[in-house]
Amino acid sequence: MKSSAEHALKQIAVDGLPASGKTTIGKMLAERLGFGFLDTGLMYRAVTLVALGRSVALDDVEELGKIAGAAQFEVKHLGDRDWRLMVNGEDLTRRLHAEQINRSVSQVSTVPEVRRALVRQQREIADLGPIVMAGQDIGTKVLSDAPLKIFLVASAETRARRRTEDSDGNIDGKGYEEVLRSIQRRNEIDSNREDSPLRPADDAKIVDNGSSTPEEVIEEILSMIGASEEVPHFET
Ligand code: C5P
Repeated sequence: MKSSAEHALKQIAVDGLPASGKTTIGKMLAERLGFGFLDTGLMYRAVTLVALGRSVALDDVEELGKIAGAAQFEVKHLGDRDWRLMVNGEDLTRRLHAEQINRSVSQVSTVPEVRRALVRQQREIADLGPIVMAGQDIGTKVLSDAPLKIFLVASAETRARRRTEDSDGNIDGKGYEEVLRSIQRRNEIDSNREDSPLRPADDAKIVDNGSSTPEEVIEEILSMIGASEEVPHFET
């Protein structure tokens, strides 16, 4: 029997520090629950990719806002933890973790016009059905009524070590020191931006993703909603 809390649970916010494992944990959680999944970081990365491709200056807030406003996002689930972000009908997922984008995305994300346009689409996607949404302002802004909010943390060193070894997240094959500096820089800009800074919502549960395996973290989160091993799948 499911509890009423489980029935009510349609939105899960998975926020966290850069490279804290939001995507890995978010996808596993979505798969376990039969929910959709959206990695909102990919949307900010896609706007950055388009801006860099068109040589738009990173302080040209008007043009950046236009790019975000014109982008049409759609999520495709190809099964087995494989979610793709379609941007104007094109699958950009695999191009969005280039180092050039890592270097610029936090600045693009400070622009309120960009955030407004992306938050609007994130909420529209959330309206389509039960969802796990990963990002930085999901619990504080995008889905501020979500009944379950997770905020993942891990030391910068652990995050950098994992990201260095992650072929999807480190597509340029950068070394540990460079990855660490890049993560610390993003952390700094993201935490200090004026519009929706990176921080846990007051009602978020802080989860340490530094010393446990992903499976252990998933069990910890599932136990918060009373859905342990015996209840492997939600009806949606
Ligand atoms: O999650 P990921 O690290 O891929 O996000 C890339 C960048 O996008 C973050 O460093 C941040 O600048 C921005 N971002 C954001 N708000 C979100 C998700 C990501 O500002 N909800």
